[in-house]
Amino acid sequence: MERFDVIVVGASVSGAPTAMLLARRGYKVLLIDRKHFPRDTLSTHFIWPRGVSYLKRWGIADSILSETPHFTRMEVSVEGISIVGSIPLPAIEQRFLELHGDSVGATNTYCGPRRLLLDHILVKAAATAGADIREGVTFTRPITENSKIIGIQAVTEQGAQLQATAPVVIGADGRFSQFAKAVRAETIDYRETSTFAYFGYFSGIDKQGLTIRNRGRLGTAIFPTSDGTHMVLAYGPSAWWDHFRRDPEASFLRTYDFCDADSAERIRTSKREEPFKACGSMPAFQRANIGDSWALIGDAGSFKDQVTAMGITHAFRDAELISFHIDRALRGEIPLGEALRTYRTVRSGDYEAYFNFVCRVAELNVRPREELAAILDVSRNQQRADEFLAQFGDTLHIPMPAISPHLSEHPTVATAGCTKDAVPGYDCPPYSN
Ligand SMILES: Cc1cc2nc3c(=O)[nH]c(=O)nc-3n(C[C@H](O)[C@H](O)[C@H](O)COP(=O)(O)OP(=O)(O)OC[C@H]3O[C@@H](n4cnc5c(N)ncnc54)[C@H](O)[C@@H]3O)c2cc1C
Repeated sequence: MERFDVIVVGASVSGAPTAMLLARRGYKVLLIDRKHFPRDTLSTHFIWPRGVSYLKRWGIADSILSETPHFTRMEVSVEGISIVGSIPLPAIEQRFLELHGDSVGATNTYCGPRRLLLDHILVKAAATAGADIREGVTFTRPITENSKIIGIQAVTEQGAQLQATAPVVIGADGRFSQFAKAVRAETIDYRETSTFAYFGYFSGIDKQGLTIRNRGRLGTAIFPTSDGTHMVLAYGPSAWWDHFRRDPEASFLRTYDFCDADSAERIRTSKREEPFKACGSMPAFQRANIGDSWALIGDAGSFKDQVTAMGITHAFRDAELISFHIDRALRGEIPLGEALRTYRTVRSGDYEAYFNFVCRVAELNVRPREELAAILDVSRNQQRADEFLAQFGDTLHIPMPAISPHLSEHPTVATAGCTKDAVPGYDCPPYSN
């Protein structure tokens, strides 16, 4: 039986930085993953400034930014009302100060590296820090003593058994977490309603920065990534997925025609470099995320819809929080139970409002006129536009902006609702609502 200070199950964007941070503090860390890196995964990969700030804080942003186009200005458009701006740096500094006691690394830069690159760099950083990394090793069950988890059993691709013990085990094995099931972590919140996501990688698109366009119940997002392509995403309510996927490529282009005609033209004249990827639905949940001697981080603890692209940033946050609190326990400053409970409380305080916000956005309901009026107001004031983006990017806390009396002035607001009349010739029933 091998002995460690900490065992981390899953070496992706939550597990690898956790192992890295604990190994840097001098702990003996075992990090296992059933896959070998580099590997891709079913996810787009936009990283908000708050997420890039963690990469800077950890000293690994340069290796990602040197290969990935990065920006500060972005556009989020709702029913033709365009909000263009940057997340204010002081807001990011403030959020880091609140959560971590300092603002080291804070930046308002964002980027979208392929997961092939990002996840591999994180695993290499964990290895450089001294973590013992075993790839191609699958967690099978916890090892318990008097009902307490004291380690893990895992199996290699060759079928060899691995047994390891540690005072604390961290489940970072994603939304279908085997570790969470094995420790019977209860699901404490579940939201069925979600979006579908359909995306591809195209070369030859000349477009800078992130553009998100939302119209009716459909949306698009496009940004340049690390391999010279653009990630091009279409999304809609998962209830429409069956219809969309009857002819997905045609539906994809029609969604672009509907939401972002300018990009639709660029996509038609560009080249798709690999098969489309798709996710038909993605219900959100939260699990009880600590036990006596274990914790869940990243998607293993809570998964939410892709619609605000926040999973990676929150995985980084969890890594920073859990490693900080476990370090306190392993140094003998506080008991492990108290450290894990503090992790749960602090993380939950940072997370609950945003989780509810994402679940609401993921319903993709047609926006009421009052909300559009508020968005119109925001679009006309740069400071408020930046603050809106900071809320969307989980930097400022969530309340929505106040309502405008000038609603009817804006032509698209007047016709909002994604009706057939608003889109002449658009004959696909689910898209005309
Ligand atoms: C369609 C879609 C689009 C998304 N777009 C974005 C986006 O643009 N931006 C963003 O921030 N987030 C996005 N997300 C969310 C993001 O992908 C996740 O939040 C993030 O990957 C979670 O990281 P994680 O480390 O918790 O888990 P994962 O990335 O799921 O990694 C889990 C790791 O555990 C390993 N593992 C699993 N089981 C075992 C086992 N039994 N033994 C050993 N290893 C195991 C896996 O191989 C994997 O490496 C998207 C998600 C989806 C579904």
